[in-house]
Amino acid sequence: MIFQAKYMVVFTGAGISAESGIPTYRGAEDGVWHKYDPAKYANIRYFLKDPKYYWGFFREVRYPLLKQAEPNKAHIALAKLEAKGVLRAIITQNIDGLHQLAGSRRVLELHGNTRRILCMECNKGYTIDTVYRQLETQFPPTCSGCSGRLRPEVVFFGESLPTAVLEEATQETRRCDLFMVIGSSLVVQPAASLPVMAKQQGARLVIINKEPTPLDSIADVVFHSAASEMLGDI
Ligand code: NAD
Ligand code: ZN
Repeated sequence: MIFQAKYMVVFTGAGISAESGIPTYRGAEDGVWHKYDPAKYANIRYFLKDPKYYWGFFREVRYPLLKQAEPNKAHIALAKLEAKGVLRAIITQNIDGLHQLAGSRRVLELHGNTRRILCMECNKGYTIDTVYRQLETQFPPTCSGCSGRLRPEVVFFGESLPTAVLEEATQETRRCDLFMVIGSSLVVQPAASLPVMAKQQGARLVIINKEPTPLDSIADVVFHSAASEMLGDI
C-alpha cells in the first residue's frame, strides 16, 4: 500500500511516543506521573486558578521527561518516508515534539507543543530550558518583557483546537490515498472522525495500535502491535 500510495498521510497519538519513555495517559499507572492529575495540570480553568500546579508538574515530571526522550524507530521511519516523498504530512495529537526531532518537517500539531512556552500578554516565546532555570528564582514564572503570565503552547482541556491547523489536517485527510493511524485509541475528536473521512474519500486505511480501536472494523489493515516494531520493519 505504501509503494502504491501517491499521497500518504499519517495520524499519530500518544502510543507512538510510549517507546520513547513518554507514557500515554492510560499507561501512566505508576511513578511520578500518578502524583499529578491531568484533570488539573491539563485544564485551562485550573491553570488560571492555580498555575503553580502546572509548573510543579512541569519541573518535576514534564521537563525531565522531555529532556531524556528521544525519537524511536517509528518516528525515524516516518521522517524517512517523508524524505522519500511518500509521506506528505503527519497529523499528531502529541505535544512532545518528537516527530520534529526525528527530522519530520510537515507536522500538524492539533494540540500544540509543550516545548514552546508563551507569554499570555505579549506572546513572547520562551524555551523550556529558559523557563526551567527561571523557576529556581520565580515560581510561577512571568514574562521578562511585560511581567505577564507564561503558559505552554498547548491546547488545554477546555480550549478549542487551533482552527487553521484543524483545517489543514482536514484538507490533508481529504486529499490522501493512504491514511495510517499509529498509536491512537481513536476515541477523542477529531481522532475519531479523520480516519472515517479518509475512508469516505476513497483512501486506504491502516491502523497500527497495541489495543483494538473502535475503527478497526472499517480499516483495510489492522496491526495490534508496537509502533516501533511495525514501522521499523516497514
Ligand atoms: P491514548 O492514550 O488515548 O491512546 C494511546 C493508544 O496507544 C492506546 O490505545 C494504546 O493501546 C496505544 N499504544 C500504547 N503503546 C503503544 C505502542 N508502543 N505502539 C502502538 N500503540 C501503542 O492517546 P491519544 O489517542 O493520543 O489521546 C490522548 C491525549 O493525550 C491526546 O490528546 C494527547 O495530546 C495527550 N497525550 C500526549 C502525549 C505525548 O505527547 N506523547 C502523551 C500522553 C498524552
Ligand atoms: Zn510578555
